[in-house]
Amino acid sequence: MTHIVIIGTGLAGYNLARELRKRPEEIELTLITRDDGAFYSKPMLSNGLAKQKQATDLPMGDADKMRADLKASILTHTAVTAIDRETQALQLDNGEQVKYDKLVIATGANPIRFPIDGDGSDDVLVVNNLDDYARFRTKLEEKTKVKSSAKSSVAIIGPGLIGCEFANDLAQAGHAVTVIGPDEAPMSTLLPTEVGRVLEKALSDLGVNWCLKLTTSAINKIATGYELVLSDGQTVQADLVLSAIGLRSDISLAEAAGLECQRGIVVDRTLQSSDENIYALGDCAEVEGLVLPFVMPLMNGARALAATLCGESTKVSYPAMPVLVKTPAMATVVSPPARDAQGEWELTKLDNGIKALFKDGERLLGFALLGDAVSEKQALTKELPSVLS
Ligand SMILES: Cc1cc2nc3c(=O)[nH]c(=O)nc-3n(C[C@H](O)[C@H](O)[C@H](O)COP(=O)(O)OP(=O)(O)OC[C@H]3O[C@@H](n4cnc5c(N)ncnc54)[C@H](O)[C@@H]3O)c2cc1C
Repeated sequence: MTHIVIIGTGLAGYNLARELRKRPEEIELTLITRDDGAFYSKPMLSNGLAKQKQATDLPMGDADKMRADLKASILTHTAVTAIDRETQALQLDNGEQVKYDKLVIATGANPIRFPIDGDGSDDVLVVNNLDDYARFRTKLEEKTKVKSSAKSSVAIIGPGLIGCEFANDLAQAGHAVTVIGPDEAPMSTLLPTEVGRVLEKALSDLGVNWCLKLTTSAINKIATGYELVLSDGQTVQADLVLSAIGLRSDISLAEAAGLECQRGIVVDRTLQSSDENIYALGDCAEVEGLVLPFVMPLMNGARALAATLCGESTKVSYPAMPVLVKTPAMATVVSPPARDAQGEWELTKLDNGIKALFKDGERLLGFALLGDAVSEKQALTKELPSVLS
């Protein structure tokens, strides 16, 4: 029986396992994860507060349930430390080895960290998994308890998609929020500036304070929490500091094993790496030059890869995949144009929101819909070209 080993039990690893088990082929399946193997929806991490979700409320199944559902061996709290491609074996941090016939790397992405001066910089929090979320929630509650009268304050470094989602969630839950970043307006890699400003205003109305066109030079500890020194010299005080400056594909194992890597683990349309027995899926994979760290691409990838691993070589295709940004203060959907797309943004202001269409002549290549414009999402998505056809 073919033994398929998946490194990672995030949405990529578990969705692939599910797709494999939908098929009739008999395979031996092993998943290895350095976390506890709970199955949860990572997008819930940035809107869990307003929904009053504790970290323990988020899992839809623990490792035992997943073992039973998937008829798989799941090694939890176990890190893969090396891939030996010659012997097709994985080295584990507990000293053991696991052999594979086919290996799938689904190690996700790690938060980008950058050095900041000051004795508080090591305390900066990130939220990229359930453990991070639990730590963040605990600290938030501890700080709020100490203050007794008011809710705690949070400085968020990074006004991108995830930073805006956390800002909305925290502000909605009653916390004082300041968002800091060098950008002209929020979500600058996905939204034209004028559109970003509409989101900025909606979040300001919710109480979010913005320090845009500024970077953080230092984070110092003070009696009540932290003082951030910004590039123009002004200071911001907060009980906690959360970094949301982006994620980088975790290519460490693949790189050390000599697999071709660029921004992610380089794979072809069948998600096969430069080693014919090794595949990559999810946030760690770079498919035809595209690193798409969202749920829809990995779901499409999981279906195609399950077929390929069972002997039906199948290329992944990506339709247009708009992303719903979880900012209830201003409903937002984006489908950014391809990086090399030629065209221009056309903006239409609405009483509540804005519609931005990226067009090459009459051809729609991308959009950003805010507020009332979100109702046009379905119709406009039909007009968009596929991301990978
Ligand atoms: C706060 C937040 C909100 C988001 N919201 C949205 C959203 O609204 N919509 C959307 O489409 N996308 C969203 N995303 C992105 C989406 O959640 C990710 O694209 C997706 O969850 C990635 O899944 P993954 O399985 O590739 O990686 P991960 O979930 O990171 O899983 C990686 C797995 O690999 C394991 N691992 C790593 N290295 C090793 C090792 N050496 N040995 C053993 N195990 C290892 C880890 O333990 C983990 O189990 C959000 C992301 C974040 C952080």
